[in-house]
Amino acid sequence: MSSYFRNAMEVFKLLNKSNCKECFKPTCLAFAGSVFKGEKKLEECPYLPADVIAQFKDAQQKSPITDQGALDMMENYRKSIAQIDLESKAQALGGTFADGRLVIKVMGKNVSIDQHGKIFTDIHANQWVVMPLLNYIVQCKDAPISGIWVPFRELPSGRSWQGLFEKQCEELIKKVADTYPGFFQQILELFNGKEVEKHYKSDIALVVYPLPKIPLLICYWLPEDGIDSDLNLFFDAKTEDYININSIYAIGAGLARMFEKIAINHGF
Ligand code: SF4
Repeated sequence: MSSYFRNAMEVFKLLNKSNCKECFKPTCLAFAGSVFKGEKKLEECPYLPADVIAQFKDAQQKSPITDQGALDMMENYRKSIAQIDLESKAQALGGTFADGRLVIKVMGKNVSIDQHGKIFTDIHANQWVVMPLLNYIVQCKDAPISGIWVPFRELPSGRSWQGLFEKQCEELIKKVADTYPGFFQQILELFNGKEVEKHYKSDIALVVYPLPKIPLLICYWLPEDGIDSDLNLFFDAKTEDYININSIYAIGAGLARMFEKIAINHGF
């Protein structure tokens, strides 16, 4: 199954919906279903623009976020963590050490990790939290963040993931913000978000901390004079010193899905 699309509709949205059958499928929707299941490749539709195909292909080749790839990667991180002195690294990670476990705040909530990389938390620690957290413990440099905000595409490895990041992260969060009026207030309350000075002339700007040295700035522009609303995420320019691009993407996509669930639970 494709791990780059959450469902067949996401593939369908990319197609021209002409049902021309040149892909040897009866409809665009059937083609989308086959791509989602991994039976067809996007490039088998001759009408998809090359840049769209390239974006998804590139990410697919570079990304290890297949189910098996992610499991293997987490296993490797756990092996590396077993070799790390967590107590002496705790400060560099922006965490603490107590009762034999490293304690790190994830979105403002305590998560603890033992020497085997086993995670203990009250929050629902699905894969989007686990992989970036393990990666962070292994990779995080003992150096301060830069304090300079950059959009995802300006991170050193961000460009080839940009299309996917826009679709799976920024567009989804924008949709939640557009439809759920209490969204930003909820983030402030639930995740210890901090309202900050308005950046880039945005109407709302707030920072959350998926990990202690991974601040994430969310900027939202309200619709105005017939111009649609907009939402962009910004990262510290040095983020890739602490986690890799796979983990940065996983955080963005994971947060987008979590925010969606919160909105749905509130009836939006
Ligand atoms: S070739 Fe493309 S446009 Fe034609 S039916 Fe298949 S998916 Fe749709």
